[in-house]
Amino acid sequence: MSNDAQELVVEYIIDEHDRILSFNDGFRVFAQENDACSLLPKVLGSELWDHIAGLEVREMYRLLLNQVRLTGRSIRVPYRCDAPWMLRDLELELEPLPGGLVRIRSRTRRLELRQALALLDPRTERDPTRMLLVCSWCKRIQDGSAWVEPDAYLQTHRLLTAKVLPQISHGMCGDCRTRVFAALNLGGTGV
Ligand SMILES: [Zn+2]
Repeated sequence: MSNDAQELVVEYIIDEHDRILSFNDGFRVFAQENDACSLLPKVLGSELWDHIAGLEVREMYRLLLNQVRLTGRSIRVPYRCDAPWMLRDLELELEPLPGGLVRIRSRTRRLELRQALALLDPRTERDPTRMLLVCSWCKRIQDGSAWVEPDAYLQTHRLLTAKVLPQISHGMCGDCRTRVFAALNLGGTGV
């Protein structure tokens, strides 16, 4: 793992209508690392909402953006954004700019290489009859009333060597909801 990867800062700016105005080199590198290069030409001018999966997560981003624009103060929230072969802790920062623009910046806090998880690889064949709920903020998987790490889930359900895996949908676990609301100074209530 290189120091460059550790220090990767992914940054983009959205306008007052939440359209992506610009992004930095870190954004380009991040897209390359995540096999999302084909998306890059389509990113400029697109709406932020085209790139955020899951209703609950979108709602959280809306709350965060509203708060930042209303108060004129930055907000920072930790989150996880894994690649199949890498566990990645990041910090999200939303910084208000004049004219309703917002700079959205992700800084890498921790990287940990692991054996690639087919569950997180979009090329993996999926079972259309099975669906897992993944928390978009911490990447844990809902298992009954608990939320567990993806590899623990696969082990428990004997899916580590499965060739066909369940589909994934995105939501938000209680811990992350509490954390984001704490960042919003709402004390984790009000949902
Ligand atoms: Zn979570």
